[in-house]
Amino acid sequence: MRLRLTDIRYYPIVIKILVSSCLLGAPVRHDARDKMCDHAVLRRWIEEGRVVSVCPEMLGGLGTPRPPAEIVNDGSRRVITRDGADVTHAFESGARAAADQGYADNVRIAILKSGSPSCGSSFIYDGTFSKTAIPGEGITAALLRGQGIVVFSEEELDAAEEYVAALESSGR
Ligand code: SF4
Repeated sequence: MRLRLTDIRYYPIVIKILVSSCLLGAPVRHDARDKMCDHAVLRRWIEEGRVVSVCPEMLGGLGTPRPPAEIVNDGSRRVITRDGADVTHAFESGARAAADQGYADNVRIAILKSGSPSCGSSFIYDGTFSKTAIPGEGITAALLRGQGIVVFSEEELDAAEEYVAALESSGR
């Protein structure tokens, strides 16, 4: 039987979005608290079933509460806690697990918590635990970008919404 053009149905592409769990109200931060983000765009994405929640540090086996950690600013990308413990392996393992989750859900973009040694996308802290911010990205943000996922922070939700709309209208 030949297929007619009218038999073909086109379904709109729905872009899935990876989001830091703490922004969604999960108490997964090092201090066992959340960083709930009540932005209208995020609320709508949740209602639309687009959001995939991930916390790379929990996925890496670090529980709550846990000592705060920062990336050492010497080019090594080592992650250390305030007590001096090297937790690089857990951060890298959590980043890979977050990326695997994104791949499984065919995620194209991510909204990640700014400033975090895992999720930070434009700045992080300098490894001295003195609240000194420097340009840079966390371990997970860097891995996701390397895999072609576009990363925004919770402060860029309007720009992220425009990006999603452009992707969907172009059918890419
Ligand atoms: Fe939030 Fe990311 Fe830190 Fe988890 S690793 S608490 S998702 S900023």
